[in-house]
Amino acid sequence: MSIFLVDEYKDMEPYVPGEQPKDKQYIKLNANETSLPPSPNVFEAISKKQIWNMSYYADPHCHEFRKAVAEVYGVSENEVFVGNGADEVLSFVLMSFFRRGMKIYFPDITYGFYRTYAKTYGLDMEEIPVKDDFSIAINDYMDLDGDIIFANPNNPTGLTVAVSDIEALVRKKPDRMIIVDEAYVDYSGETCLPLAVKYPNLVVVRTFSKSRNMAGTHIGFAVSCKSIIDDMNKIKFSFNPFNMNSVTMAAGIAAVKDTIYMENCVSEIIKNREYFSNELKKINFHVIPSKANFVFCYNDAIDSSDLCDRLKKEGILTRHFADKLLTKYLRITIGTRQEMDVVLVAIKEILSNADGY
Ligand code: PMP
Repeated sequence: MSIFLVDEYKDMEPYVPGEQPKDKQYIKLNANETSLPPSPNVFEAISKKQIWNMSYYADPHCHEFRKAVAEVYGVSENEVFVGNGADEVLSFVLMSFFRRGMKIYFPDITYGFYRTYAKTYGLDMEEIPVKDDFSIAINDYMDLDGDIIFANPNNPTGLTVAVSDIEALVRKKPDRMIIVDEAYVDYSGETCLPLAVKYPNLVVVRTFSKSRNMAGTHIGFAVSCKSIIDDMNKIKFSFNPFNMNSVTMAAGIAAVKDTIYMENCVSEIIKNREYFSNELKKINFHVIPSKANFVFCYNDAIDSSDLCDRLKKEGILTRHFADKLLTKYLRITIGTRQEMDVVLVAIKEILSNADGY
């Protein structure tokens, strides 16, 4: 640590993303990405023209890209904010609408970055315990005195909150901002995105990292009412006007227009999720019923951290969280049918050598 780091950051624990080892070829099921390729349109969009374009700054207003996103999702361009991944979009939300000491609520089991952001922005965070079955009970949020963020479907459980419940919350608290992170929503089918342009206190955040198979380009966007999006742009132009580069935006435009390809990929992953969950249950795994592109599961015969390590030795990356609320479980991203079959064979082999089996 240098002598220059500001005091409040000295004890900060940065978010730890799923590892990206390059020492060998892994079946990568630890970061909810996918081995499916981006839309064929993206391969066409990244051309020599994009390389020539690199000489100039990209459009800081991201007009073409926002227009394309808006058209696909049935909203207007000025109701869309685009950023360098959902992570950056969420960061702009917090930077724009929260000041130090302000209250923010989120579930105690959710995307770990919310805790990190709260610390980065000096917020007074309060974690609301999920129910015993890991579900989020909307009634626990109805009478809170601060803004709220949650992921729907939630990570790492894959459980969802009904859109009607979200609408009830948004209506009950018109002076509170409700941020719904829909990173995995394409795998669940029920979105509250249309509500984000109906109510002035709802922000919906999406990503291209999951269902669009484009984690490497790191694209995210928010949909909300015009005044909220205008505010976020004001802050963006005071921080980093060129947060989106031209190559990424060209790829994003091509991808977002290819709804059919995205839907086909999503149905394949959903099919594989159901298949994999059932196969795990047959070998005595407890599997939380997931509406995302991952499953959260455990088997009494083996410690999940041990299973994670042993799978890694077999060339399969999964995600184990040390947090005491999560440590019993292993999160396994859903890949292709072939990948899931390799994982099942490896798990069965590991279990057959496990003491408790
Ligand atoms: N929100 C949730 C709930 C996530 O799980 C993730 C991915 N880890 C993100 C946001 C980040 O998405 P992006 O890659 O677009 O930053």
